Amino acid sequence: MDNLPTLNALIEHLKRLPSVGQKSAERMAQALLTFDDKTLKEFGTSISELREKVHLCKNCGLYTENELCSFCLDPKRNNSVLIVVSYPKDVLGFSKLEDYHGRFHILGGVISPSSNKGIELLAISELEKRIVRDKVEEIILATNPTVEGELTALFVSKKLAGLPIKITRLAYGLPMGGQVDYADAMTLFKALEGRKDLK
Ligand SMILES: [Zn+2]
Repeated sequence: MDNLPTLNALIEHLKRLPSVGQKSAERMAQALLTFDDKTLKEFGTSISELREKVHLCKNCGLYTENELCSFCLDPKRNNSVLIVVSYPKDVLGFSKLEDYHGRFHILGGVISPSSNKGIELLAISELEKRIVRDKVEEIILATNPTVEGELTALFVSKKLAGLPIKITRLAYGLPMGGQVDYADAMTLFKALEGRKDLK
C-alpha cells in the first residue's frame, strides 16, 4: 500500500509470524485499525513488555515471568523423570498428559546435520547439573522425529552416557518428519508409552 509507511511496517512485522503471508498480514493490520484506542494501546503494551517480563526459567528453560516456571514449582510433579525437548513450544502437548508427572527440560535448539552447528546452543551442561542435583532417574528424549531431532537426541544421549540414569527416546506413534508440538494427546501418550532405551 502506498504512502502508508506505518501500516506497511506493521504488515512486514506481522509477516514474521508463523503461517502469516502477505494477505493474512494485511487483513490483520486492517483489523487492528478498527480496534478502539484503549484496546490497541493494550495490544502494543503486551508486545513491548514481552522481552522485559517474559524470560526463560532458570531451571528448565521454559518461558516464565518469575524466577521459576509453574512446572518447576508444581509440588505434584516429581524430579525423577525429565522429558527433554528442543523448544518451549514442544512442551505444550506433554504438559496436558494426565499420566505424566515428571518435569521438563528445554535444550534450546537442534543440531544441524551438515555442520554439527547448534551444539553450543544446547543447554546440556545445565541438564547434566540438574540430573545430578535433582537425582533424576530417567530422561526421555522427545526431540522431533526429524534428521535434526534424531541427531540431537543421539548427541545428548552420548553426552550423558556416563551418568547413572536411564535414557529413553520417544517411540512409534510420531510420524517421521513430524513435530511434537503438533501431535495430539493420544499420539504423544503412545509415543511415551512405547519409548525405547537408548542406554
Ligand atoms: Zn522451569
